[in-house]
Amino acid sequence: MKRLVYCLFVMIAFAMNLAAQDVHSYAKPSAVRVKHVDLDWDVLFDQKILKGTATLTVERSSQTEPLIVDTRDLKIERVETSTNGVEYAPGTFTVGTSDKILGAPLTIPLPAGATRVRIHYSTSPGASGLQWLAPAQTAGKKDPFMFTQSQAIHARSWIPLQDTPAVRVTYNARVRTPRNLLAVMSAENDARTPRDGDYSFRMRQPIPSYLIALAVGDLRFRSLGPRTGVYAEPQVIDRAARELNDTEKMVVATERLYGLYRWGRYDILVLPPSFPFGGMENPRLTFATPTILAGDKSLVSLVAHELAHSWSGNLVTNATWRDFWLNEGFTVYLEGRIQEAVYGRARAQMEAALGLRELQDEMATLEDRDEILHVDLAGRDPDEGFTNVPYQKGALFLVHVEQTFGRPRFDRFLRSYFNHFAFQSITTEQFLTYLKQNLLDKDPALAARVPIDEWISKPGLPASAPKPTSPAFARVEEQAQRWLRNEIPPTQIPLARWTTQERLHFLKFVQSALEPPPSSGGPAGTQLSHTERVRLMGELDRAFNLTRSGNSEVVFQWLMMSIQNKYEPASARLEEFLLSVGRRKFIRPLYQELAKTPEGRERALAIYRRARPTYHPIAVTSIDQDLNWPGQ
Ligand SMILES: [Zn+2]
Repeated sequence: MKRLVYCLFVMIAFAMNLAAQDVHSYAKPSAVRVKHVDLDWDVLFDQKILKGTATLTVERSSQTEPLIVDTRDLKIERVETSTNGVEYAPGTFTVGTSDKILGAPLTIPLPAGATRVRIHYSTSPGASGLQWLAPAQTAGKKDPFMFTQSQAIHARSWIPLQDTPAVRVTYNARVRTPRNLLAVMSAENDARTPRDGDYSFRMRQPIPSYLIALAVGDLRFRSLGPRTGVYAEPQVIDRAARELNDTEKMVVATERLYGLYRWGRYDILVLPPSFPFGGMENPRLTFATPTILAGDKSLVSLVAHELAHSWSGNLVTNATWRDFWLNEGFTVYLEGRIQEAVYGRARAQMEAALGLRELQDEMATLEDRDEILHVDLAGRDPDEGFTNVPYQKGALFLVHVEQTFGRPRFDRFLRSYFNHFAFQSITTEQFLTYLKQNLLDKDPALAARVPIDEWISKPGLPASAPKPTSPAFARVEEQAQRWLRNEIPPTQIPLARWTTQERLHFLKFVQSALEPPPSSGGPAGTQLSHTERVRLMGELDRAFNLTRSGNSEVVFQWLMMSIQNKYEPASARLEEFLLSVGRRKFIRPLYQELAKTPEGRERALAIYRRARPTYHPIAVTSIDQDLNWPGQ
């Protein structure tokens, strides 16, 4: 019964949304469109809620249709409407049935001439887009911390608004916090503002809802250049500023390639370790995981990535989540070009080769429907679309076009694409039409070499897809092989001189030798015994102290190997890592790998029970599913 009602509801929701074209929003922007949002909140750490108002300025194409906004777990107190933005009159509203994925529509009838709607509301302590950290979860251990993560459809859990990337808004905000803490937003931040617990923000450029962001904590600021800087807790700020001091250089390099940076400042906020992602490209203020602070700038490709989003994603935005590859494929492509400009070609090649490997590994586990760039996410949580496919396959498609048409021509095309669609949200169809008119049709002979439909609408990779390789990796493999054949001791492997990318490749190569994947077709007899595998792991560990590595990517790879080879000496480190880091890219595969055996599963559940309260709701949702956590 319950299920039937649910199905019926989903069908109705689906039919309703066909008109809006975004199956993940209840909004009908073609009738009433929100253009601007004024926010006013108290940040209440003791209750873990935001409480205040959102005032929406609307543009009406229909004088009869109501305003429909998206909400999830919001407590709506009352609603007012206004024709002039000065006098407000009480209004009516209804909150529809809540769907597990979409949340609930909030419908507000609009009187004649009404152009503003003020919603008085508060969030719930379990809001999917907010994380509230206890002092113990911060570097300083003294003050609490909170931050938002709105992508894909979590903005609706803290702001009632048209939560679709097709709608762009400007916003102003006033935020009251405990007096000693600082609030920052994806807007104009004044680093010298007095710390008095009352902060104001202004975002003048229209952005989609998923880019609205807020963080509150004991934050310090350090300038990195004329228009770049970093925010972090006092205990982290020096390390962060050292690690990120190429940021200004990256902005300059990207502008040289793709035109002016249009957002004023570019600052980076380094969050506590429970942040579920590597980075989030909130405009003017990238949110980043502290796991990129490796001490040697080897993981700052993440900054190149988030910065690139200032063009691909934030300036030209995917209109729906099925067009997500327009954001991420372009961004991974740009990231490679920025890396090449700042750190040289060898490093960009390594990243590209690693990217292809990750894509192939993940595609081996995906259903066909999820290997498609223009993926169908109807009826599904858009967070399920966050695989390597939109990222790496999307980028590879653009590399294919670049290599076919030549870099100068493709660069000109990209610059004109960013200008043409600046501050707009577009669909895959719109991109393809533009590509055809401005590149493909100008040289049909070259265009015939790129199987566009196969790239966009088919699973897998076309046979003609580029296969990025790295000469540096070939040298790494040679060293690994010599050690595995017992020709050199591990101490002769120049691991300490290698980049993080080379070390990662080395470890992955060694793992494929220790445990050849079943698809490699080798005879079963080539499997090494458990004792032998543990002996080899121990040799590497003694030579390079991998279990204690401070580089998050390296230690993650090592911990994966230690689960796969049942290497016990790393087991305490595994537990420590899972209890202190919340980045989903790391913790999810570790739990999945553990859960492959019955003993491992026991262990995964025991660790997860302790770690779960410290993880972000987005990471919890994924891992709950993976581990069949009770209550799911
Ligand atoms: Zn991205």
